Amino acid sequence: MSLKSKIYKGFKNFANSKASRNSDFGSRIFIYHNVGDGQVDAFEKQMVILKSEFDGFVNVTEFVKLVQDGLLNSKKIACITFDDGFYDVYKNAKPILDKLNISATIFLNQMLYELTNEHPEKLEGFVNDKFPRLSRSHQNLRGLTAVQLKEFIEDDYEIGGHTYSHVSVSKIKGSLFEQEITNQRQFLKDNFGYVIKSFAYPYGRKKDIPSWGAKILKNCGYTSGFTGISQDISKFERINQFEFPRTSVSLNISEQEFRNLIKGSADILDKLTRQYK
Ligand SMILES: [Zn+2]
Repeated sequence: MSLKSKIYKGFKNFANSKASRNSDFGSRIFIYHNVGDGQVDAFEKQMVILKSEFDGFVNVTEFVKLVQDGLLNSKKIACITFDDGFYDVYKNAKPILDKLNISATIFLNQMLYELTNEHPEKLEGFVNDKFPRLSRSHQNLRGLTAVQLKEFIEDDYEIGGHTYSHVSVSKIKGSLFEQEITNQRQFLKDNFGYVIKSFAYPYGRKKDIPSWGAKILKNCGYTSGFTGISQDISKFERINQFEFPRTSVSLNISEQEFRNLIKGSADILDKLTRQYK
């Protein structure tokens, strides 16, 4: 094991043990990606735990409104978000969410969607390039079909933006970022009559979020933005509405680790690895 991964493991153990002793936790936005065929039970188990630990579920736009109106204080609210819009979310997660009456948000990667619907022969190269870790652990990664996306919209799931080509926004110019998010917004409007309001930064770490991102999002009609930097929302005094924190969840962790995540283990880990600005 390299020194770097030894240090990370040490941080992780520290964060887990500290979070496990935390009895006071608040509202939180969770990030999922895939729910593979072998992960259906794990996903359902996590949803059932969230149902018992939180007072309710809303989509991210409703969540932002609750925060801005100062209505979160006494309540513990959870938000479920899925990044990219993979097919297995439709196949394996949606039936569980519908059954448990949990509302969720999908941050759609436009190119994944477009290749799935128009150029499936180019999909493999794209997912290997953009999602190397996911494509190693999941076979036949693909996006949603137009019919599936329509069903999500009709069933009141929120659809958010996640760029066209799935780039780290810090690595491109502001003008290109504007194009990436405007095209996607226009596509959803023209094809589904749907207006996108929220946006999640691809990769979502501190280095992927430029200081000028918020201004462009606002100019292009977005009302909120989401990172992948973990924090309990109630611990914030003031939140930048274009840099809301979110907590990444793996479906391969134990129940205890998942409970630690709810109580802030990832918050501690992100502080230790200096993800905050
Ligand atoms: Zn993504």
